[in-house]
Amino acid sequence: MKKLFVIMISVLLLLGSFACAEAKPAASQAQPTAEITDVPKTPEPTPKPTEAPTEEPTPEPTEAPTPEPTEEPTPTPEPTKDPNRPMVALTFDDGPNMNLTIPVLEKLEQYHVKATFYVLCPAFNETTVPMLQMMVDGGHEIGVHGLTHELMTHFTRAENAQRLTKACETISDWIEGGYQPKTMRPPGGSNNGNVKNGAKDAGLAVIIWSVDTLDWYTQDVKKIMDVVKKETKDGAIILCHDHHKPTLDALDEMIPWLLEQGYDLVTVSELLESTGKPLEPGKLYFQKENGD
Ligand SMILES: [Zn+2]
Repeated sequence: MKKLFVIMISVLLLLGSFACAEAKPAASQAQPTAEITDVPKTPEPTPKPTEAPTEEPTPEPTEAPTPEPTEEPTPTPEPTKDPNRPMVALTFDDGPNMNLTIPVLEKLEQYHVKATFYVLCPAFNETTVPMLQMMVDGGHEIGVHGLTHELMTHFTRAENAQRLTKACETISDWIEGGYQPKTMRPPGGSNNGNVKNGAKDAGLAVIIWSVDTLDWYTQDVKKIMDVVKKETKDGAIILCHDHHKPTLDALDEMIPWLLEQGYDLVTVSELLESTGKPLEPGKLYFQKENGD
C-alpha cells in the first residue's frame, strides 16, 4: 500500500511539474511582448532630432550680410588737394580748450577748411577728450605738443622719445580705432639734437612755424591780422592758439582773407607732403619746402 501511495504521489508531482512547465513559458511570453511593444515606440522620436539640426543652420546666412554695410560708410571721400595750388597750414597749440576748441572747430567747418591741432596731454579731461575725436572726424590733423609744456631741451634723447611715445599713445586711446600722430611741435618751438632725435625715435617730424601771430600775447584781432597779412606766403605754417577769444574772432577775418588770396587751407602733413616727399621723422620743418 505504501508503495502504491508513493507511486501515486510521484505521478502527481510529475504532472504538477508539467503544469508548471507550461505555465512558465506563458509567463515568459508575456514579458517579451511587453518589450516588443516598447521597441516600435522608440523609432518614433528619432525623426525629431533630424528636424532640429535643419533649423540651426538657417540663422547663419542672416548673420553674414550684416557686417558688410558697416564697412561702406568708413571710406569718406577725401578731396585730393591740387599740390600746385598755393596753400597754407593753420595750426592751433595748447588745446584742447574747454571753451575755445569747439567754436574753433565750428568755424573751420563753416569755411570748409582744415587745420592741425598740437595738443597738450595735461589739457585732457572728461570735457576736452571728446574734442580729439571731433578733430579727426572733421578731417583735421592732431599733432603732439607734449606730455607736459616743459621745454623739451631739458630732457635727454631717450626721455624725449619716451615722453613723445607716451603722448602719442594717450592721444590714440581717446580716438575710435586709434590714431598715429605724424608730427609734433616742441613747446615754445625750443629744440636741439635731443629734441630732434627723440622725435625721430618716436617717428615724428618736428614742426615749427613761419608765421607767428603772437595771438596769445597781443590778444588783439587787428594785430593778429597785421602779422598774417604781412608774413603769409605760399607754403606758410601759421601759429595760433585755441586758448583766447580774440584768436577765435580773428578767424572770421583770417580765413576769408587767406581764401581770397587763393590759398587752400590744409593740414600740416598735407602741406609738407604736397612736395611729393614723405615726412621725415626727426626733421625740422618751418614751412613747405621748395623743390630745391
Ligand atoms: Zn604751447
